[in-house]
Amino acid sequence: MTNKNKIMGYKKPSFIENIAEKIGLIPNLHKDKYQEFDGDMRQFTDEEVAQLYENFPPPEKWNDWQEYNPKVWPRKEKTTYQIVPTTCFNCESACGLTAFIDKETQEVKKFEGNPYHPGSRGRNCAKGPATINQITDPDRILFPLKRKGKRGDGDWERISWDEALDTIAARIRKAIKEDRHNEIAYHVGRPGHEKFMNWILQGWGIDGHNSHTNICSSGARFGYNLWYGYDRPSPDHTNAKFILLISAHLESGHYFNPHAQRIIEGKMKGAKLATMDPRLSNTASMSDYWLPSYPGTEAAVLLAMALIILEEDLYNRDYLKNWTNWQEYLKAQHGDKEVTFENYITAMIDEYKEFTPEFAEKESGVKADMIVEIARQIGEAGERFASHNWRSAGASNLGGWAVARCLHFLSVLTGAVGAKGGTSPNSWNKFSPTQPNPPKPQKKWNELHFPKEYPLAFFEMSQLLPHFLKEGRGKMDVYFSRVFNPVWTYPDGFTWMEMFQDESKFGLHTALTPTWNETAFYADFVLPMGLASERHDINSYATHGGTWVAFRQPVLREAARRNGKDVEFTYETNPGEVWEEDEFWIELSWRIDPDGSMGIRKHFESPYRPGKKIKIGEYYQYLFERVPGLTETAKKEGITELEYMQKYGTYEIEKGESYKKNETLLTAEQLDGSEVDPTNDVIRKNGKDIGVMINGTAMLGFPTPSRKNEYYSQTMVDWKWPEYAVPKYIKSHIHNDNLDKAKGEYVLVPTFRLPTLIHSRSGNAKWLVEISNRNPIWMHPDDAAKWGFKTGDLVKMNTDIGYFIDKVWVTQGMKPGVVACSHHIGRWRRPQDKIGNRWATNTVAIQGDGKGGWKMNTIAGIKPFESDDKDSKRIFWKDGGVHQNITHAVHPDPISGMHCWHQRVRIEKPVSGENYGDIFVDTNKSHEVYKEWMAMTRPAPGPNGERRPLWFKRAFTPDISTFYIDKKKEE
Ligand code: SF4
Repeated sequence: MTNKNKIMGYKKPSFIENIAEKIGLIPNLHKDKYQEFDGDMRQFTDEEVAQLYENFPPPEKWNDWQEYNPKVWPRKEKTTYQIVPTTCFNCESACGLTAFIDKETQEVKKFEGNPYHPGSRGRNCAKGPATINQITDPDRILFPLKRKGKRGDGDWERISWDEALDTIAARIRKAIKEDRHNEIAYHVGRPGHEKFMNWILQGWGIDGHNSHTNICSSGARFGYNLWYGYDRPSPDHTNAKFILLISAHLESGHYFNPHAQRIIEGKMKGAKLATMDPRLSNTASMSDYWLPSYPGTEAAVLLAMALIILEEDLYNRDYLKNWTNWQEYLKAQHGDKEVTFENYITAMIDEYKEFTPEFAEKESGVKADMIVEIARQIGEAGERFASHNWRSAGASNLGGWAVARCLHFLSVLTGAVGAKGGTSPNSWNKFSPTQPNPPKPQKKWNELHFPKEYPLAFFEMSQLLPHFLKEGRGKMDVYFSRVFNPVWTYPDGFTWMEMFQDESKFGLHTALTPTWNETAFYADFVLPMGLASERHDINSYATHGGTWVAFRQPVLREAARRNGKDVEFTYETNPGEVWEEDEFWIELSWRIDPDGSMGIRKHFESPYRPGKKIKIGEYYQYLFERVPGLTETAKKEGITELEYMQKYGTYEIEKGESYKKNETLLTAEQLDGSEVDPTNDVIRKNGKDIGVMINGTAMLGFPTPSRKNEYYSQTMVDWKWPEYAVPKYIKSHIHNDNLDKAKGEYVLVPTFRLPTLIHSRSGNAKWLVEISNRNPIWMHPDDAAKWGFKTGDLVKMNTDIGYFIDKVWVTQGMKPGVVACSHHIGRWRRPQDKIGNRWATNTVAIQGDGKGGWKMNTIAGIKPFESDDKDSKRIFWKDGGVHQNITHAVHPDPISGMHCWHQRVRIEKPVSGENYGDIFVDTNKSHEVYKEWMAMTRPAPGPNGERRPLWFKRAFTPDISTFYIDKKKEE
């Protein structure tokens, strides 16, 4: 064995492995040569590794690449391809893809990775290549449609793009002219479009952006933001020594594949991995430590670790001293003590004295010994402590945001914030584009999105929109749902359905979607938008300690361009008349303001041809001209910036040394005319905070009021939550104390993802549905024995507003006392709906009693069907699962606004006549639950009549004047 093998942690094969390899039962992975190659991989340079991946065709051959066609094997027949790069749209990571286009037929035949993409580096998860299923799905929507008959009746007619655009534009024009700006909204599910929609909606002067973020990530964002003014973490897994994941990030988490490959790289270099999750996920099973915590108690475990680090002197003294606002904390909360660093440490130890490992074990079920061991390893890892928490706990519990806050506390204690091998703010690793003719911030504040009750909500209170409409707070005259399916994805889908069916609540509903979904059934226009390889977009995400920008492009359009064909609009090269959002919005904007008199059109004029409508190529050329370094790189090849991106699909802006940016020194020019606040050393210029003095040196710091990590948050005090001035553990709505076990009450974890599915968008991807097509209730054998359940038995899950009937899966992979159900499955269509997603949808009957009671029953499961795709006859699965989210009430966290997904459920055995897939919901009850949670809020105004802290980020930030509540108007 070589030394390198030793460094790698090479293990000798076991006796059984040896025998099995020798007799050929399993491949021999321990032949000297093989192991040497395998083990030595990481000793090569990046360039050498790239050469080893011979399977990637080099870009100089991308216009004429020949491969044997595997489908005609054993015949040897070559196909010639044009290869065009784009990016995947099946999660936010935006990994690189290359489309292989048959040169002869101009059909896309397959997708592979793009080795030049710095985030994904040629690798994809199963969902990337499955893009081919989506674009060839026989059930996809190919033409613009308008409803006939009553909304929701399922009758549609084909229309032209012109008819759709003119009708929608006229309605928007009227609303704006009548000063009803807040009745226009764009509600997005899968985002993307870096700043494109800011350009459009702010160009119209409306506060019209609504997102899915409050059912997704806003809890964690809030926790991070309170600390350091950035709302997302960017862990540097590759260089970490210890990695702590809250939930299953290795298999399905945020920035899934780019992070997963770097977590494994970190592990290969010797990092230890710990995963906190009540489920033995694939991630937990790959970890060195599995911490099966009771849901909602994660913060207690993290604070116990913090206490150990403090008590055992494992903290980073310099970092805490320089980069936390400890003086402010002592002055505010310990006025009797002298302001010394030692008193700060003592006060923190006192603050968390109850969080002993034993207390944390009692709360969470995680063994005290393991908590101590991990805390010590985190302390020892120091700056090289990487961690991640995204949806999971932060999105599940009352006070879930405190999980992110307590996790970041560990990064602060160890000095890992922004360090190599630590966890940086995401903005340090993200490119932000500059657009032509940028509009000014809108002078409107839409209280249907940011109501006064939620002054600190990190994103729009989108889950409450139907309740706001129900209680008459306003209406949506023109509403766009874009790759957004709240009827299915959101809690309380029946209330959404009730509101969608009422035209006085939703005036004109346009669904922009590549595929049919449960929300599009309740639209007036269904407009087919392109999938990953059928549209333009740019992407830049914090996948690692570097910065990149990628170009999602319509690959057939790009192939046509290379072949010398002139294309005006993307739908000319897409299937049917499938279009793309970018061109749609530009066209719509011009039609809203055809003569330019409303001041809208000017924003969407060409920066190169004054007065003319901007072309899509001009838009991206303008953006790419402003990507640092790209102009020079493109010039070397004698091409424009746009041509470079069309060719490679990606550009690496910064290779990965962007650490500790808070220590960036302010220049003499920046400091000229500035002054230092003697109370906290913040440097101010022209009324704006620009930096902070650290040991006599002027540094950039963080975008918080103190320009440091805020252990103590005056903001929380000012906004009526003084009890959470410092990181705290908040007992959740599903804490054991809140459950009545005698009545069969359990906590249901409904949030976990399967790595092979795409929220509610896998229904048109046959390979993915073939892998995963049901969502049983995970139950530990001890719980199953208590109830007398075995795998496959029916179980009735009673929520606060109704029930659903599912099947049990008995598994030791679930923490006892907790049950779980994956969230992608249970898709449906009604008999009257257009056929769609037949790989994944049950046919259901829905009956309402007219008084808020709704029943859903499965009429038919999934069946083989005739189509041009022979595989549709080969469907072997029948069970499409059960739609669980529709039985959940809204649970908006009173501070962060995040929907708290976990459910208190009462488990029962169904009675005779109750069947698999049965669902019942009472929307009156759901409205009552909504009111209960609303009653927990502490509404604006805050200091100075503000409706939101001025330093808090807000999506589509409006004009500063709108941040103040006009009391006179209210009276
Ligand atoms: S992780 Fe998978 S789904 Fe997400 S962008 Fe990458 S390939 Fe696509």
